[in-house]
Amino acid sequence: MYAYTIPLSQTVPLQLAGELSKRIFFVSEDIESFELVEQMDGEAKAVSAVRVATRVPLDAAKMQHMLDRLVSDEIVPQRSVMAQPIWRSGYPATIRDDTFDSMLEQGMATQSGEGQFGFGEPFIALTSHLDSLFQAAAQRSFGALEQQYPSLIPTEVLARSGYLASFPQFLVFAGRLHGELDSYKDFVEQVSGPTAAEDAGATVSRAVADHSTHLGYTLSPAVCYHVYEQRAGKCLDADLVSVTARGRCFRHESRYHRSLERLWEFTMREVVFIGSDDHVTDARSSFMREVFAIVEELGLAGHAETASDPFFCNARTAEKIWTQRLMQLKYELILPVAGGRSVAAVSFNAHGSALGEAFSIRTPDGEIAHTGCVAFGLERFAYAFVCQHGLHPSGWPVSVRNSVAASQSRRGE
Ligand code: AMP
Ligand code: ZN
Repeated sequence: MYAYTIPLSQTVPLQLAGELSKRIFFVSEDIESFELVEQMDGEAKAVSAVRVATRVPLDAAKMQHMLDRLVSDEIVPQRSVMAQPIWRSGYPATIRDDTFDSMLEQGMATQSGEGQFGFGEPFIALTSHLDSLFQAAAQRSFGALEQQYPSLIPTEVLARSGYLASFPQFLVFAGRLHGELDSYKDFVEQVSGPTAAEDAGATVSRAVADHSTHLGYTLSPAVCYHVYEQRAGKCLDADLVSVTARGRCFRHESRYHRSLERLWEFTMREVVFIGSDDHVTDARSSFMREVFAIVEELGLAGHAETASDPFFCNARTAEKIWTQRLMQLKYELILPVAGGRSVAAVSFNAHGSALGEAFSIRTPDGEIAHTGCVAFGLERFAYAFVCQHGLHPSGWPVSVRNSVAASQSRRGE
């Protein structure tokens, strides 16, 4: 392991240290771990350097250049706006710190790769039950139309929505081999040749890189972009259209992957609202209250507050974060989990007319439609639930226990 202390040309005020920490692993995947170094800067403490550990020797000057750019372009220009709490559950947090380890031991979770997990019962039934509560609330309140979408989404749709230019760090593109006989033959030779066995992983990676092509598709980082794409160029037939869908989502979170808190592949239930400004604003607010009621019915501790997205490498990162926080365009439901940490389990987002414009969606009056979405991270939510209520259904609220028992007996367990 190599260790470097990289001085920052410009210090970072402590209130922005969290924003810096969220992005350091994205600066270079060579960084295995890091620590912020604090120093007095005038009257106040500030981050003056970043201590990084790497497995390979580093070009320290290049690293300093990249960190300096991150700090000057995306961190320091952020005007710090404190998160505003908007709701708090009446339940106190009782947390079981060994939840994740116990899930692995009991085979309730099995790791199949970086940020990738398989699940067993009763976690599967719990996740389905939670999902059905959110889906039923959306159907009851807005008559939300249930839809299913593919995991792949045209990359052009993500470009159009602004996602590509705002979150390049998360993207996982779909690729395949060049569709040509010679290319296939060459590939097969490379992966089965005499040197292939020596370092199979590296050989296959090289062969894939040499023979691959981008297909124009990306593994979806969220569900709602499918919904806007489906209505592109159309006029809505009501003042408020609501669609709900559950789908697999993919975000490469680098070394921020952690337990079930931060995954590379996860499941999202989204409830999407498209319509006039007033209707979308009201729908987001009223659905938020319904979700808070569900959280209390589930006996969970948690709170909700204003939030922002982890924009990265975007010339307007600081401005976007400021606008989101100031205009309260994003709220998050935060649930405590093991280890004294907490996770954002649900986000409530307002996009104004940005996506309506990008996808040319109009209201029945001919105005550009406004959009909003509420996104539930099902593994995160279920993980917070078992951190708080334990892994055994006997400790769960009766309604959840009964629903899980019914679904297991239907499957003959
Ligand atoms: P966002 O679109 O970033 O607001 O994400 C919506 C929800 O998806 C979050 O509130 C989380 O519950 C979930 N989520 C986002 N990223 C991840 C991740 N890397 N792993 C697990 N869940 C995630
Ligand atoms: Zn969304």
